[in-house]
Amino acid sequence: MNTSVCERCDSSINVTIIYVDEIPVTYCKVCKMSLFSKKRSVGRPSIGITKKVSLTLTKDDWEQFDAQAKSNRSLFLRKIIVKALNEEDSSENR
Ligand SMILES: [Zn+2]
Repeated sequence: MNTSVCERCDSSINVTIIYVDEIPVTYCKVCKMSLFSKKRSVGRPSIGITKKVSLTLTKDDWEQFDAQAKSNRSLFLRKIIVKALNEEDSSENR
């Protein structure tokens, strides 16, 4: 393990690997807290449901994508998506 960065918020404070529905996730303390509080409340489920998505990109985009994803496309996409969803959440609240 070289980089310990929270995959949800990119924080490096108190980052540990936890298992959520048998899926290892690298979360910081804050995200762990919000994960467990979310589990009890009604809302969008956290990590645990896998759905397949077909994605069409140009060859160049795929090359860039794979270069940035560093052989873990799912993790990379999850980071982007969670970030985007969080941004949407916080902009709706304003
Ligand atoms: Zn975090």
